[in-house]
Amino acid sequence: MQKKYEGIIKQAAAEHKLERDEIITLLSCDGPALEFLFAAADQVRKTFMGDAVHLRGLIEFSSYCQRNCTYCGLRENNKTLSRYRLDAEEILTIARAAVPLGYKTVVLQSGEDSYYSAEMIAVITCRLKEELSLAVTLSLGERAKEDYRLWREAGADRYLLKHETSDAELYGALHPDMDWGNRKKSLYTLRELGYQVGSGCMVGLPGQTLTSLAADLLLFKELDVEMAGIGPFIPNPNTPLASAQRGTVELTLKMIAIARLLMPQTHLPATTALGSIDSKGRQKALVAGANVVMPNITPNKYRRLYEIYPNKICLDDNPAHCRNCIGGIISSLGRTVAESAGHSPKEQFTLGLG
Ligand code: SF4
Repeated sequence: MQKKYEGIIKQAAAEHKLERDEIITLLSCDGPALEFLFAAADQVRKTFMGDAVHLRGLIEFSSYCQRNCTYCGLRENNKTLSRYRLDAEEILTIARAAVPLGYKTVVLQSGEDSYYSAEMIAVITCRLKEELSLAVTLSLGERAKEDYRLWREAGADRYLLKHETSDAELYGALHPDMDWGNRKKSLYTLRELGYQVGSGCMVGLPGQTLTSLAADLLLFKELDVEMAGIGPFIPNPNTPLASAQRGTVELTLKMIAIARLLMPQTHLPATTALGSIDSKGRQKALVAGANVVMPNITPNKYRRLYEIYPNKICLDDNPAHCRNCIGGIISSLGRTVAESAGHSPKEQFTLGLG
């Protein structure tokens, strides 16, 4: 049995291809085969992405959302949450403070909040690029193609739009006011506009199967994403999924490791969600294929209000403390903090064409 797993893993590490059934087989492995999977993914990470870990400073700038995703604490119908919005000057002040801490990228993330016009986001993006020379990732959900285009023209380098699950039926159940086809179309639009595209999925959603998780990995591959965020589902008590089981650390790590075998040049974050259900979760991900960490640089007073899921780590830490803590984690693994902006190593982006 061990030999069967080893054969699939060795071939995937060499060719970066897996059939759906092979992925399902790997998602079921344990014991020595699982250790072999993690070691192979770590080796592929080292070969293609090196030992440097890229930091992305996360600014959660608005907790307002017009959607009602059944798993998310920011959903509009969650009236228990106090909401906040940051203006352009506050966002710039946070980013300015992140530069001396060594951040080269900021991620502007919010709920789907139409309070921010496309022009407002374009101006903020432009200022982050021109005044602070930061790489900019936007993560504001689904917007019109013209908005995406304007932001790209303003200098946004990357866009993160998680597909969450590629199972259209499950997607429909989790997102009562959204459409799976539109989600996928938006990801292709971002690709067409020349963004470095990030997607992501949750692991352990109620009703999710190994077949559906295999499809998530194959969708990342089909989209040829520059980043894939894979984190566990964590139920939020103020949502319809309050009593659902959360996803497991082990299955999430398997997904990350298989993603690394399939996509050697894709950035894979060790997610905060994984660190929130296991105090060593991010370290485990970093030795199973991950090469990115996204420390929160949002001021403390807002962090608790951006409660997608409960018991998030680092809620009481300030950005300087987070930076030290993450630096310590990275060096304890014999790795270094990257000094570059961490653009995709794919050729079209290293040549500066993307
Ligand atoms: S997952 Fe995103 S779009 Fe859905 S409710 Fe939460 S913040 Fe809004």
